Amino acid sequence: MKAILSLLILMTTLKAHGFIPTEAYTFDFNITTVRMTKPKERKLHQAVELLRLVFASSEFRKQILLHRYRGRYGFYMNDGESNRVLYAKILDGVEKLYPYQNNAMDVEVELYADFESKVMGYTYPRTRRIWMNTKYFNRHTTPEIAGHLVHEWLHKLGYDHERQLSPRRRYSVPYAVGTIVKKIGRQIEWKCL
Ligand SMILES: [Zn+2]
Repeated sequence: MKAILSLLILMTTLKAHGFIPTEAYTFDFNITTVRMTKPKERKLHQAVELLRLVFASSEFRKQILLHRYRGRYGFYMNDGESNRVLYAKILDGVEKLYPYQNNAMDVEVELYADFESKVMGYTYPRTRRIWMNTKYFNRHTTPEIAGHLVHEWLHKLGYDHERQLSPRRRYSVPYAVGTIVKKIGRQIEWKCL
């Protein structure tokens, strides 16, 4: 009887929270920094730890799977890939540059200062490095940095968006997932504070 009860509780819990694959919990971050001061490194590290919690949340899975673009489940410029495949690819962590499935984010972060620019950061396909503009990094909150880090990293997985601002751009994988991470990151921060 007790066993049946436990099973029922477990089933209700799974139903309520949705099934989260183990990869969501074991996802790791291999992040190195280039010429970064200790306080800035700490700020980046906080964002990474928040991102770890976001990736492990059922809310993250739910928001990726239920994302809609033009009335259908999906993202803009995703080559017809399903949300389920996208979620699996995020957790696999297979960067185009290092095509092995290690369930981790492998990047190098360098800060640069360009106060005239409106660019938050950038990266190139042929490097594991991500550049972040201190103009934004300094004023950004932890969830915002986590969202930006994910945005640039998704380029490394092969996802892109239009260079020019367009009404559809925010539905692209880098922008939309970046926003999802930022929002869930904020919710986690509120709960913890
Ligand atoms: Zn981008």
